Amino acid sequence: MIPVQGYTGQTVAVLGLGRSGKAAAAALREGGAVPVVWDDGQAAREAAHDDGFDVVDLTKQGAFDGVAALIVSPGIAHLYPKPHPVIKAAWDAGLPVDNDIGLFFRSYATRDWEAFDVMPRVVAVTGSNGKSTTSALIHHILVENGKAAQLAGNIGRGVLDIDPGHDGDVVVLELSSYQTDLARAMTPDVAVLTNLTPDHLDRHAGHGGYFAAKRRLFAEGGPDRAVIGVDEDEGCYLANQLGNDLSDDRVIRISSGRKLDQDGWSVFARKGFLSEYRKGRQVGSVDLRGIAGLPGAHNHQNACAAYAVCRSLGLGPKGIEAALRSYPGLPHRSQVIADRSGVTFVNDSKATNVDSAAKALAAFPKVRWICGGLQKDGGLEGLHAQLGHVVKAYVIGREAEAFAMDLPDVAAEICTTMAQAVVRAAAEAVAGEVVLLAPAAASFDQYDNFEQRGDDFAAQVEALSGG
Ligand code: ADP
Repeated sequence: MIPVQGYTGQTVAVLGLGRSGKAAAAALREGGAVPVVWDDGQAAREAAHDDGFDVVDLTKQGAFDGVAALIVSPGIAHLYPKPHPVIKAAWDAGLPVDNDIGLFFRSYATRDWEAFDVMPRVVAVTGSNGKSTTSALIHHILVENGKAAQLAGNIGRGVLDIDPGHDGDVVVLELSSYQTDLARAMTPDVAVLTNLTPDHLDRHAGHGGYFAAKRRLFAEGGPDRAVIGVDEDEGCYLANQLGNDLSDDRVIRISSGRKLDQDGWSVFARKGFLSEYRKGRQVGSVDLRGIAGLPGAHNHQNACAAYAVCRSLGLGPKGIEAALRSYPGLPHRSQVIADRSGVTFVNDSKATNVDSAAKALAAFPKVRWICGGLQKDGGLEGLHAQLGHVVKAYVIGREAEAFAMDLPDVAAEICTTMAQAVVRAAAEAVAGEVVLLAPAAASFDQYDNFEQRGDDFAAQVEALSGG
């Protein structure tokens, strides 16, 4: 645990008692603060009470008398579509509103570090897609190369749950736009933007607000080094803003598909080959084709980001390449779960938005595509360019018919349930095809979360084998 610094003897309110809220409360207490906690859900409040926390109704008038700060969980809207009333009350009371990420950055470094040979470093990864994969990949490469590393944030442990820094440690943090939007301090050594496509528009009042939230990771203190995906205009703009010119080594540009061989430091992947360029000359290359844990151009983008981070931390190309090859992949992201008579079954339940589903379709030439669920704002147009890969769509979800109507020129069957979709797709697939779950939609109409949806897919595929 990272004891929170700066609030010793003061009362700090915590709103939201999920994983990060509970960890924040515990870390505040460990650092000598007095946490008072609240959640809109009664069960969460009771659990916190049983854990010995002081549950105080923060919605009551005067609740913030004598309170030094409010710490908010990422699931709670702090501005759009509208701020939670407790947050509004905190503004009115003049209280700093922060989150666990802000607390982490103000608390991670300690006096003990003065005795270290190599300062602990923090790598923070954000972007629309590929955050978890890139973070897990960086962590895997570091560990495989004998470095002490911890994975935290949206993946792995809560940031305040990790172990205090040791000599030479690296912390790899996956940060969502909700987290970067609210944190009052962010001072990573290396910051990464993988890519940017529209998502979570309701929480950021549109795409501009969404980018502004992510951009804060590069502004609040500023990283020593920035690894930026330049396949979208926003990334180009950010890279331009952070460096003096192309040769400024504080910025490493990455791309999936574009050759970046100009002056400066860049890592890009084209046709399955990763290249590293410095000062206009190629200094490293990796054949990414055939790495089972990293299929498709989107994963090659993640590989570029992870490679760039690890190079900037001083690792050699050969050690990074060996670790890329042994990366096992994450569940529910381009995860091969079965092969039945030459038909591969791939679970990409995490493809909850249009861009990630389009990338998953692009990774395979002939796809029996299981899609559908709770549609996000913005429609399905972003998928159109990849629909040539689809042999047939098997549409699930409560709104399956409407979803199918939005897919032009694609053979589509309304299946509604996962069980039906898997049976139908498996019955019609021939050797060489992929049955791919990449829903392009959220799961909440039928499942608690995307993990449950992916597990259901795997269970239905398993049931086929038994039958
Ligand atoms: P995040 O943590 O940003 O949601 P994940 O690594 O969990 O990212 O991947 C989320 C989804 O996006 C998965 O469906 C995955 O296959 C897909 N994906 C992974 N990397 C990329 C990328 N670089 N670009 C687009 N989609 C990606």
